[in-house]
Amino acid sequence: MKSTLKLATYRNMLEKKAEEVRRSMSAQKAAQVVARLDVPSDEGDLSQQHHEEWIFLNRNTIDMKLLREISDGLHRIEQGTYGVCLECEEPISVKRLEAVPWARYCVACQEAIAARAALGQPVDDFQEAEK
Ligand SMILES: [Zn+2]
Repeated sequence: MKSTLKLATYRNMLEKKAEEVRRSMSAQKAAQVVARLDVPSDEGDLSQQHHEEWIFLNRNTIDMKLLREISDGLHRIEQGTYGVCLECEEPISVKRLEAVPWARYCVACQEAIAARAALGQPVDDFQEAEK
């Protein structure tokens, strides 16, 4: 089963995506600094500035999370556990891995987790299955 997965291909996809995310994070950071220098900071700007900061941090958190998922995916390739659902231990479909190479769960488990999250349960779907 494992030998049918094109691990080198997935590794490439993961590394490329990680590079992309890192680049977009530093581009955002640079844009943020430039914007800060441009805007004279009087009181009217302050709340707007806070708002922008919040968006930036939020966006950054999502990127950090994605980077972590990608690096975990690479780790699973090393460990030989790549492409297996962490929840039900069934193989994740090739179609899904090609769309989301850092996927941890099969579609069914991912949907179950998303449904739990939608009910307002504080689910960190990326952490709970790890330890
Ligand atoms: Zn599953």
